[in-house]
Amino acid sequence: MAMNNCPRCGKQIPDAVQACPGCGYVLEEYKVTVQGRHSSAATAVAALREVCGYTPDRAAQVLNAMPEVVYTTAALEEAVHMAQLLSDAGFDVALYGKEGQVCFQRDLKD
Ligand SMILES: [Zn+2]
Repeated sequence: MAMNNCPRCGKQIPDAVQACPGCGYVLEEYKVTVQGRHSSAATAVAALREVCGYTPDRAAQVLNAMPEVVYTTAALEEAVHMAQLLSDAGFDVALYGKEGQVCFQRDLKD
C-alpha cells in the first residue's frame, strides 16, 4: 500500500485514507500551511488578517502554532494565489494537495 507523510504531524498514512488517523488532518483539499516567517510579528499578523480574514487573536494563535494550516480550498488556483500572497508577506509557506506538496513559487526574488 502506498504511504504518504501527514503534512501536519509527519505520521505515515495510507494513500487511500481521507484524513490522518493521528491528527485528523483532512487530505482531500489543497491546504496552505505557514511554517515560519521572516517578517516581524506585527507584519505577519497584519498579513494573516488581510489575506485570511483572521481576527487578531486567531492570527496570533497561528504564529504561535506554526506550522499551521491557514487556508483550505478544493481549487488549486485559489490555493496557489493564497500561498503566493502569504509568501509575499514574508511567510515560509507550503501548499499541500492530496498527492503531497505542490510547488506554487513564482521566480524567487532575493
Ligand atoms: Zn497527522
